Amino acid sequence: MSDLHNMSQPASAIGPAARAASGPTLVERAYEHLLSMLMTVKIAPGERIPIDTVARQLGISQTPIREALSQLEAEKLVYKTTNVGYRASPQMTPEEVHDLYTLRLLIEPYAAARAAEQMDDETLSILQSIQADMDAVVERDEQAYARFAEADALLHRLIAKGSGNRLIEETIERLHAHLQIFRSLYQNSAQPNAPEVAAREHQAIIAALLAHDPVAAEQSVRDHLTCSQQRMDRANGTSPR
Ligand SMILES: [Zn+2]
Repeated sequence: MSDLHNMSQPASAIGPAARAASGPTLVERAYEHLLSMLMTVKIAPGERIPIDTVARQLGISQTPIREALSQLEAEKLVYKTTNVGYRASPQMTPEEVHDLYTLRLLIEPYAAARAAEQMDDETLSILQSIQADMDAVVERDEQAYARFAEADALLHRLIAKGSGNRLIEETIERLHAHLQIFRSLYQNSAQPNAPEVAAREHQAIIAALLAHDPVAAEQSVRDHLTCSQQRMDRANGTSPR
């Protein structure tokens, strides 16, 4: 079902040149490339995005790149200026980060409850491997943070997908992209979202999902996001609203 959706979705948004080449795949390739550059802050907040350079890097024309950029613009990850072209969006303010968590708190606990009811065996076994990664973080091995961030992203993505609601899934993914950019900027300084503490919160979420317990799943996600929001606020010096 999701494959069908993917095929039909970008077609309407593609320019003639891209369609003449090999259809939506070029736009999707450009989109994925740019998204990953933004999320890893290889293109830093506020930085200009040189369309010609990106086109050369990917070995494709500028048209699909412009199309991908206009999708990213709709997601507020880039913006267009009259003379300069596209730039990466400015760094989120502490208030925007706080608001982002408030929105997550409205959506993700619900998604987790639905996911607890519907998750298939394959997803459940992925959850068990995430659990192992989280345990490693608690034991503080090397590169713990990178693995934590990866496991965290995967866990929240599985919950989003497990909701069985595509709009919810896309909304959560989008919020995560913004948050990931913000986190990447903190990579080498004090982590506002202490991995060991968050790992314990994640363990509670995973246990609830594995037990197919919607009430516990909803509550554990709400607790985790509430604590994450407070940790972020403290790190950013934002007063709670
Ligand atoms: Zn998390």
